[in-house]
Amino acid sequence: MNTTLPPLIDPFARAITYLRISVTDRCDFRCVYCMSEDMKFLPKKDLLTLEELDRMCSAFIDMGVEKLRITGGEPLVRRSIMTFFDAMSRHLETGALKELTLTTNGSQLAKYADDLYAAGVRRVNISLDTLDDQKFADITRWGRLTQVLHGIDAAQRAGLRVKINAVALKGFNDVELFDIVNWCASRDMDLTFIEVMPMGDIGNEDRLDQYWPLTDLRNQLATRYQLTDLAERSGGPARYVRLEESGQKVGFITPMTHNFCESCNRVRLTCTGEIYTCLGQEGWQDLRPALRNTPDDDAPLYEAIRAAIGLKPKGHDFDYSRQDVAGKMSRHMSHTGG
Ligand code: SAM
Ligand code: SF4
Repeated sequence: MNTTLPPLIDPFARAITYLRISVTDRCDFRCVYCMSEDMKFLPKKDLLTLEELDRMCSAFIDMGVEKLRITGGEPLVRRSIMTFFDAMSRHLETGALKELTLTTNGSQLAKYADDLYAAGVRRVNISLDTLDDQKFADITRWGRLTQVLHGIDAAQRAGLRVKINAVALKGFNDVELFDIVNWCASRDMDLTFIEVMPMGDIGNEDRLDQYWPLTDLRNQLATRYQLTDLAERSGGPARYVRLEESGQKVGFITPMTHNFCESCNRVRLTCTGEIYTCLGQEGWQDLRPALRNTPDDDAPLYEAIRAAIGLKPKGHDFDYSRQDVAGKMSRHMSHTGG
């Protein structure tokens, strides 16, 4: 951290130390809960260049951000993205950045796992909702399970610690719950389930049909395992339990059924330079003018970041309880990054 700059503290006294940045809105999959089949993507000229992404992230790091998660869209389909990871590794070397990581669908990991490790990445979240070839093809529309499994093999071979993120979907992967848990245990991978969130228009799918509350999922787990709640929190929405029989740690991301906002330490940046200080609110600020208007002076950028953090809301309003998707967000998850 640049010691001359005061840390980023929001109006509710939360220190902002975690930046999730989407480096592209594009993806090689079209997961049904995330995108419509005919998604319209941003014109390439609207995206921040890799140099601009570097400058943006470096400014946040100067102001106390210690953890950087690269996401998308699918981050590994962005052209020359390794140049950006390599550039970020200088902040790991100085110690300003404690962790550089990414969330990926795994499709490109066979190609990039070693390079990611070389850039200082040590952990990776890989999204995978089913172990069945046909169901995988159905849910991702364009994906192939074997490609992702090869990516996971490559990640583990490269020395990356893998966490699997699975979106809990009623009538889809509920029947695979124990298979997924056992598979992760057999490969020494952590596992987190995510409740489906009302993000963006995704075509014909009905979110209330897909919604599988994690309280239900947890109750099912408890029929076979003794669950111990863990105190561990990451400043985010995940809560963890240990399955005593296997020693496995399983996380639950339950934005609908728990309020996690009081400890929120994160903000999100889109690939066009918009900062969203809350995943569940529409409010955002555009940091791109501050970045582009003064290419040789970071002071206006610092000021714009601080002003945006000064508007971070207390929390979000998602709610499925009225059998209508209240608090629904108009943007897609691939826009702000998961
Ligand atoms: N493409 C990468 C991937 O799939 O991991 C990174 C971006 S993706 C938007 C990040 C995460 O958001 C994934 O784990 C995905 O399953 C999750 N996600 C996408 N849409 C969601 C939704 N409507 N509700 C809950 N999680 C969602
Ligand atoms: Fe792509 Fe990830 Fe969205 Fe699936 S969840 S469509 S892999 S961005």
